Amino acid sequence: MTFNYLNLVGNADLIKQLNYAMIYRLIVQHAPISRIQLAEVSHLAPASITKITRQLIKKKLIREVDAQQSTGGRPAVSIEAKFNHYQTIAVQLSRSQVTLELYDIGGNCLVSNVYPLTHFTQELAQKYLIKLIEQFIQEHSKRIKNLIAISVVLPGLIDSVRGIIRYTPHIQVKEWPLSEELQKQFNVSIFLGNDIQSLALAESYFGTTQNVDDSILIRVHRGVGSGVIINQQLLTNHNQSACEVGHIQVDALGERCHCGNFGCLENRVVNKAIELRAKQMIEQGYPTKLSLDDCNIANICKYANQGDELAIKLVKDAGENLGRAVAMMVNIFNPQQIVLAGELTKSPEVLLNAVNSALNAQSLEELRKNLTINCSSLNDCSAIGAFALIQQALFNGSLLMTLLENNMPA
Ligand SMILES: [Zn+2]
Repeated sequence: MTFNYLNLVGNADLIKQLNYAMIYRLIVQHAPISRIQLAEVSHLAPASITKITRQLIKKKLIREVDAQQSTGGRPAVSIEAKFNHYQTIAVQLSRSQVTLELYDIGGNCLVSNVYPLTHFTQELAQKYLIKLIEQFIQEHSKRIKNLIAISVVLPGLIDSVRGIIRYTPHIQVKEWPLSEELQKQFNVSIFLGNDIQSLALAESYFGTTQNVDDSILIRVHRGVGSGVIINQQLLTNHNQSACEVGHIQVDALGERCHCGNFGCLENRVVNKAIELRAKQMIEQGYPTKLSLDDCNIANICKYANQGDELAIKLVKDAGENLGRAVAMMVNIFNPQQIVLAGELTKSPEVLLNAVNSALNAQSLEELRKNLTINCSSLNDCSAIGAFALIQQALFNGSLLMTLLENNMPA
């Protein structure tokens, strides 16, 4: 067993980083705010606030705005965040496509482009990705004045700390040091992360879970993935793995999964499984508006919303199975909110009713009485998760320190 000193030892640099992070976050979330208010809320000395805000203004991360009317004395000058001076590139690698998006540092998406992914070895995928990013920068050179970070998210086992992809389902990799390669090429801060964990983080910054401390996002697509946020921080472990909820057993008598277990959640709720079940039931003669040619997940949700009985049954069964896994997570983590994402959420009413009924039967009442479950408001195919890693680095101060120490023209 090793003892992790890093969690305990503070030093002057770390304290500086935390103070800058706190002030920047307060300004982003409570603007317009005066220096006096910042000192009151942060408990830092007014002289420290003056120094920190001076540095942040110099780097064009914040700006002074019109004086607030006060009840007496000199009106206090207010401060707000300035988002448009720096740009970042967010990349989402899925099985068949690459999404490249340009964001300012306030999470506003300025450009979104999608390209096919057809290179499935580490070397080819890396060359292709570098070429795409170079082209993207060139194409949008008028808008990209101060590029400060590139962030890439993808499914699999991603070591965010070392910047290495250890496993991803669609590209053959061997300890792929993508962060280092991108850093060499573009000379900006690079972030790398798991797509679902990053989406959970994005939901907590920009989506429906921004007002709670503890939340879980579960996304159903080709597999089932989840990200857990505890005390506003993404839960990570020694292996950098996401919570593999897809391999929770929901039916002991179910069919065998590729993982070796029987009746895994994944085999009951992923889009392909639902579509296959729809086909089998149509062939068995169930009355429905669905036909063998169009029984894809989008139509199944559409017809479920229109009251088609077979479509409702398919979404309801998936929701009940999902609800069993949700109940286990509620019993373990006791979150304040659960967010569901993926195509299945296009039939929100049927889905949420089914999830709730399984949850009510299988979780502790005390743990679920203040719990809300809803569907994600974010587009899970966008690269917003990748931007969330950049937002995290601004909010924890690490990227702020890089900008303050960097001599790039501000
Ligand atoms: Zn399994």
